[in-house]
Amino acid sequence: MNTKKTINICVLGGGFSGLYTALYLSKNPHVKSGDWQITLVERNDNFLFTPLLYELITGELQRWEIAPTYQKLLAGTSIKFCQHIVKKIDLNNRQIKLDNDNSLSYDYLVLGLGTQNRWVDIPGLKTHVLTFRTLKDLEQLQAKIHYLETLDRKHLRVAIIGGGPNGVELSCKLADRLEKQAEVLLIDRGNQILKGLSKGIRKASYRALGSRGVQVYLNTNVETIHENSITINYGEQTINVPVDMVIWVAGTESKPLIQSLNCQQTSSGKLLINSRLQLIDYPEVFALGDLAQISNKNKSLPGTAQVAYQQASCAAKNIAAIIEGKPLKSFNYLHLGDMLTLGRRTAIISSYGININGQIGGILRRLAYIFRLPTMRHRLQVLRNFGQKIGLKIRRFFRSIIANLLGQKSSSKYLK
Ligand SMILES: Cc1cc2nc3c(=O)[nH]c(=O)nc-3n(C[C@H](O)[C@H](O)[C@H](O)COP(=O)(O)OP(=O)(O)OC[C@H]3O[C@@H](n4cnc5c(N)ncnc54)[C@H](O)[C@@H]3O)c2cc1C
Repeated sequence: MNTKKTINICVLGGGFSGLYTALYLSKNPHVKSGDWQITLVERNDNFLFTPLLYELITGELQRWEIAPTYQKLLAGTSIKFCQHIVKKIDLNNRQIKLDNDNSLSYDYLVLGLGTQNRWVDIPGLKTHVLTFRTLKDLEQLQAKIHYLETLDRKHLRVAIIGGGPNGVELSCKLADRLEKQAEVLLIDRGNQILKGLSKGIRKASYRALGSRGVQVYLNTNVETIHENSITINYGEQTINVPVDMVIWVAGTESKPLIQSLNCQQTSSGKLLINSRLQLIDYPEVFALGDLAQISNKNKSLPGTAQVAYQQASCAAKNIAAIIEGKPLKSFNYLHLGDMLTLGRRTAIISSYGININGQIGGILRRLAYIFRLPTMRHRLQVLRNFGQKIGLKIRRFFRSIIANLLGQKSSSKYLK
């Protein structure tokens, strides 16, 4: 009789860190043979590839391309998908409490639950703003745009609060989506946009914002948000600006569920982990992505998909190593560069000192992200769709050149 106990690996959160860890682990022969059981707990039924969320505003991509269902992504693997909200994590007793009051126990745990919008004390903030992190946010934004369009007004004004990558990318995409109909204001309380990103990216971003008529308000504090206006303060001046829509993209913070954990944390509520990505004092728990910070690093890693994705591969290897009694490896982050979409079909890529801007940047960024999509099958489907679109454009381009040449020839015939 086989008395070997199945090892339970529980992965909480199906985002960049959790889903990719589960997928890497699922290739392990012990998982395939059933000795190890992976359970992925996630509240949504769709994964979301956030870097491409902007493309849904302009219709450059379709929802299925960036938000495939977990059912589709996990087909053919032995990962057990558990669509529930995690309510409580008991690290000492190795128990997870779900919203249906069921509990899961684990031998190894991966925490990949991400962060949430940062809310600050600005009157009217929670009531009157839209946010931009999830598919639900996107639906609300699209509904608002649709409503504003039905008003048939000549002039609209949109305020975007937060001058990080989110705010800049959103400003450019919205300016393109609303074309000449709307004035976009990008507001930040700091003295520059895109803090921490390269000079090349900042320069290209300012150019893209300027050419779209986006007005950048720096050193500007938002004091109050009303239903149809915002009160802002810059220098000595306080003014009330009428606006039709306000979008809040000014940062993220740790979730209360994570802050409530009985373990070492930073002052901002990030979980402290060692260089092997294990929670301090809990070697069976791996904490990844936006919710964690490596304890001995002077500078914290950025909260990006790039970090989460690289950590997923390291965590999967370390979980296998710990179970098999092999030495664990330290995580070494390799910064491959930064990419920002700066409007319809346009992007800036900055990698190893090289900047590629414009439509070529747009194509390369799209390709780079397609190759980062979770499974090969999904990658190929999106790639095929992209190839068809590009092929169509190239064909149209050459057809227009030929038509022009033929047109010129025939007109020159008449002139003779
Ligand atoms: C609009 C946007 C654009 C971005 N663009 C880029 C970019 O271009 N490049 C880049 O590198 N990064 C980008 N990021 C940042 C990137 O998305 C995050 O850094 C990355 O997703 C972090 O991965 P994670 O696994 O830590 O968290 P997430 O990917 O956020 O995953 C967390 C998962 O946990 C689930 N979850 C949360 N709480 C619970 C619960 N209680 N119960 C069950 N499930 C739960 C969530 O539904 C989610 O699926 C962008 C973010 C946004 C919002």
